[in-house]
Amino acid sequence: MSLIVVGTMAFDAIETPFGKTDKIIGGSATYVAYCASNFIQPIQQVSIVGYDFPNEVLEDLKSRGVQTEGVEIIKDKKSFFWAGKYHLDMNTRDTLVTDLNVLADFNPVIPESYQGAEFLMLGNLVPAIQKSVIQQLKTRPKLIVLDTMNFWMESALEDLKEVLTMVDVLLVNDAEARQLSGELSLVKAAKKILTMGPKYLIIKKGEHGALLFHGDQIFYAPALPLEDVFDPTGAGDTFAGGFIGHLAKTKDISFENMKTAIIVGSAMASYCVEKFGAERLREITREDIDKRLAQFRELVNFDIELV
Ligand code: AMP
Repeated sequence: MSLIVVGTMAFDAIETPFGKTDKIIGGSATYVAYCASNFIQPIQQVSIVGYDFPNEVLEDLKSRGVQTEGVEIIKDKKSFFWAGKYHLDMNTRDTLVTDLNVLADFNPVIPESYQGAEFLMLGNLVPAIQKSVIQQLKTRPKLIVLDTMNFWMESALEDLKEVLTMVDVLLVNDAEARQLSGELSLVKAAKKILTMGPKYLIIKKGEHGALLFHGDQIFYAPALPLEDVFDPTGAGDTFAGGFIGHLAKTKDISFENMKTAIIVGSAMASYCVEKFGAERLREITREDIDKRLAQFRELVNFDIELV
């Protein structure tokens, strides 16, 4: 059983009301891998970095069961760079810089050793590349999850619509769901998006939790109310890593199990936001994860009388 993770491995510069970082390690696939490796190994990473990406991070990921044969290293170019600034509520942010650098000519070749993977996580990335990865897999994975963002809706909508027809689960935030569907109501947006290809849609609402839509069914999971949210960067990717990591670990892709997977994703995301970048994810242990899952169970467990 293995999981292919595709996405960016990058440098980020982040500004939140609590502080500011220079270039720190980020990227959609970095967060997914750090998170999902707690549940499933090996993870088969597909990405691209420049000469400036620290080997220490690649080694750290390898020690966590992340295979890096599919991570291309370009000797004369810089890694993808993203800079963002969060608003006071920490739920919304502005992108200040997106320097594609190595990403501009990324054309991944899936290593032979990755063929046969049963789970595929297409992290936020150029939609045409997400499509090319699906096309290179000789056997279609049991489950394909796709994450994307407004940047690609604005710059590559047609490619994005095409790749949507090829995946099982789409992950977007509430603003992106509205943008993609042209609907203000999230329920109407979900209905419309579910006609575009994916059978399952997850709408992330930051500190207000996440919604899972499938046919006429809806499931809602809150986010853990935290005293301090330090840096939300990567929370969405971490959520995705926990979600698909749990499904891959249990080999069960039923709607019922997706509910648990959403709680796992939410629990992992709640750790991610406690420190800048992926720092907190690199520290936590299995015990920490279990503790937080138990907190979630307490938070949402009610058995009320119908009156
Ligand atoms: P999230 O906060 O979960 O949306 O993910 C933030 C991560 O996404 C950062 O570490 C960035 O490096 C990465 N990122 C930002 N913009 C893009 C983009 N256009 N394509 C791919 N990855 C991106």
